[in-house]
Amino acid sequence: MSVTYLPLKAWNKQWILEGPRLLCRRCGASQDLTDGSAFSHKRGCPLWGRQAQYPCAELAEIMKQKIQAGLF
Ligand SMILES: [Zn+2]
Repeated sequence: MSVTYLPLKAWNKQWILEGPRLLCRRCGASQDLTDGSAFSHKRGCPLWGRQAQYPCAELAEIMKQKIQAGLF
């Protein structure tokens, strides 16, 4: 069962959830949770300019899996 917690741990390594916003741990850029567009990091962030990331959608997917697994 512990395997189901791993995606959230990995997500947590990169992002911080702060109220209705989520923040990149590296650069502090933030995005509203309801914003479904690709995350934009600040210039100078190691993740800036890389492959588009959708942390809100990822979190939603993780939550959905948890609910389906009966963890909530
Ligand atoms: Zn960043």
